[in-house]
Amino acid sequence: MIIVMKRNATQEMVTKMVRRVEELGMKAHVIVGTERTVVAAIGDERGGVQAELESCDEVEKVLPILAPYKIASKETRKEPTIVTAGSLVVGGGTIGIIAGPCSVESEEQIIEAAHQVKAGGATALRGGAFKPRTSPYAFQGMKEEGLKLLAAARDATGLAVVTEVMTPHHVEMVCQYADVLQIGARNMQNYHLLQAVGETRKPVLLKRGPSATIEEFLLAAEYVLDQGNSQVILCERGIRTFETHTRFTLPLATVPYLREKTHLPIMIDPSHGTGIASLVPSMSAAAIACGSDGLLIEVHPNPAKAVSDAAQTLSPAAFAATIETCRKVAHALGMKM
Ligand code: PEP
Ligand code: MN
Repeated sequence: MIIVMKRNATQEMVTKMVRRVEELGMKAHVIVGTERTVVAAIGDERGGVQAELESCDEVEKVLPILAPYKIASKETRKEPTIVTAGSLVVGGGTIGIIAGPCSVESEEQIIEAAHQVKAGGATALRGGAFKPRTSPYAFQGMKEEGLKLLAAARDATGLAVVTEVMTPHHVEMVCQYADVLQIGARNMQNYHLLQAVGETRKPVLLKRGPSATIEEFLLAAEYVLDQGNSQVILCERGIRTFETHTRFTLPLATVPYLREKTHLPIMIDPSHGTGIASLVPSMSAAAIACGSDGLLIEVHPNPAKAVSDAAQTLSPAAFAATIETCRKVAHALGMKM
């Protein structure tokens, strides 16, 4: 349930309320809004608790949270969550652009890509050091060496670094180098991994599982939020359908639908969503038009030579042209980009 504190409630009153909620055997999450503070009490609610809390002087009202994803729900927080990681800002009217190669391949490749995507309008650099590949014989990534190269690319360009972490054992290591922890589509329901990144205070980019419903997607985000990490970006990257003309089917309605349900920022990944480079520019513009808070786009200095996901990867020139178009769309809608 949501305990809405009175407008003039002091920090001390909020702390007291948190203690009371914990005494009742529930978890308390304090959400500070511009208007007032709410305490979300999550857990088993005993009968009579709502009335008891409502009778407290410092409490305006107590409301049940109807959605199964409690902290992610708009019922708990009306204002948009803005995720910030160095050069990257996503949400609340600001569009973030994460771009770079599918995989980190060499120092030369990632440094060159970083400069190129920055020149083209990216606000963060992506690159996989640990790669979740369908075949165990495919390139698995440069691992820690790749993370070091990403950090070097950040030093060279000032761009925040977004990279995937695949297992709880690597969370500490990836945190040493990354600004944003990416949870890949295949790991969306890896609950121990979600809890492990939730225990950090690094922003998390959570990709939708190709067979996950929106409710499952939001409940996956809830695992991270429940550990006290409020910095979660949701990323629609396409789902599995009967259709085979594109690698996945990219449902853009995810954006306005999620907007109604959650305060978390929402991104579109048109690269994995289509699997076809020529479709990426128009799907990027469409994503911005339907209200996406950002884009995740694969870009390589020489797409034909990319060791992974070459077919969906843009050249630096195509990326710059895509961002130019997206900027016009964003400005027409009053968004910052
Ligand atoms: C990626 O971003 O390179 C990636 C592997 O994406 P996904 O988890 O969406 O397949
Ligand atoms: Mn990829």
